[in-house]
Amino acid sequence: MPNRVRHVAGFLMIFFCGSAFAVEQSYQEPGRLVEVARPRDGVSAEQLAKVQAAVAAYEKRKGKGATAGKDELPFRYPFFPQAGIQGQDLFLTNFTDLNTIPKSVRDWDCSDYTYDGHQGHDSVIRSFREQAIGVPIFAARGGVVVDTHDGEPDMNTVWDETKKANYVIIDHGDGYFGWYWHMKTGSVAVSPGQTVTAGTQLGLTGSSGLSNWPHLHFETRKDKAWVEPSSGPCHTGESLWGDQPPVDRDFYAADFYLTRGRIELPDEDSFLFDEAERTASFVKGPQTVGMRIDLRNLPTRAPYEIRILNPRGQSVFDGSNAFQNSVVYHLSYWIFRFDLDLDTVGTWRFQMVIDGNLLIDAPFRVVASERQAANRAPYRVAARITQPAEAQFLTCQVQSPLIARDPDFDIVSYTYEWRVKNRVVRKVTSAALADVLAAGLAQPGDKVKCKVVPSDGKRSGPAATAQVVARP
Ligand SMILES: [Zn+2]
Repeated sequence: MPNRVRHVAGFLMIFFCGSAFAVEQSYQEPGRLVEVARPRDGVSAEQLAKVQAAVAAYEKRKGKGATAGKDELPFRYPFFPQAGIQGQDLFLTNFTDLNTIPKSVRDWDCSDYTYDGHQGHDSVIRSFREQAIGVPIFAARGGVVVDTHDGEPDMNTVWDETKKANYVIIDHGDGYFGWYWHMKTGSVAVSPGQTVTAGTQLGLTGSSGLSNWPHLHFETRKDKAWVEPSSGPCHTGESLWGDQPPVDRDFYAADFYLTRGRIELPDEDSFLFDEAERTASFVKGPQTVGMRIDLRNLPTRAPYEIRILNPRGQSVFDGSNAFQNSVVYHLSYWIFRFDLDLDTVGTWRFQMVIDGNLLIDAPFRVVASERQAANRAPYRVAARITQPAEAQFLTCQVQSPLIARDPDFDIVSYTYEWRVKNRVVRKVTSAALADVLAAGLAQPGDKVKCKVVPSDGKRSGPAATAQVVARP
């Protein structure tokens, strides 16, 4: 039994050549790149037995083998059932393991975005701070709620087979059951026997049960066994998705911030708590500036360059090197500290290029006194409503760069207010870059409006609105 599932795989000492600022020798590790082991999860034996009994009792009540209903159309999930945007604030890190050989893995697309024995799709959010704000989980399609559980602790970071999860089980019809696992405590919003439509909020993302990262484990079951809903070169046949989420192999930065002083991450799990105070305001004078960047799909041995420019555009720090990782790091973070003489009041810039991509070009300010370092509201966003083909739910997406969301690098939450025919039908505050209006809340021809207000917890940015007429 793996008892410590996250590990520090990479530990690099990084030395700059030609740097205008020598790195202080008292710290032997000005920079540290850490690969975090991908999330691992599971269902405890006790809860597995409970769910199996609930499903059996449900089928008996309904008549053996009966399910929520048979559709004329082939079975399809119209969307991945979690608020947010895959490849931005969400990252699908594990699919099912289709390889039955122990210690060997294969996902449906013939790569390694899974782990040995995994039975569902794992989609991670970025931190427990996003979990605290809330990241909704929705019904992937209509159905009947079969079983639920709530009230369990939800900030687990280590594998423990005795831990119980908060979950929802739904009969989605045609013999398919959806398992929505690891929810935040107190968030389960449906009860057994309830009928739901696609997009109905079931709960919030958490890390309850056998889980080491706040994420949704979405598992599809048929005939008492798990199935892989996606199809590809290593899993042929019909996909169960209307819009199949791809394996995201693109390299990108999922988060970035600066702090005053060096970032302390005392143990392997503390990066998920993300407790450092984010800022882009520094009082004039010599000081240490801490930096953290969270990376997805970091290529092997990527070259990088960091530049810090003063208000006159002069480089006061310019360092380059290459990472030493011999495998792609699906999930990693890099922390760094800079000893700088911030000698000029004004707008400075922090720039970072990795593998030829300008990932960060962020302004930060140097002020004369603390009074001038006041918090600023998040940047303006745009909103867009989409209605997937053959679906009756709608999605409201925030259009904003992933990193440059707030001038102080604060975590931004979004309040989504949905109106149908000018009446408010859903209002939710979420950490996610998208929200969903469940099927049935808007009828064809209804005017639907989504208003989004970004907030850093203290100040709100300008509201953005989008409006459409619902299609049949
Ligand atoms: Zn999982």
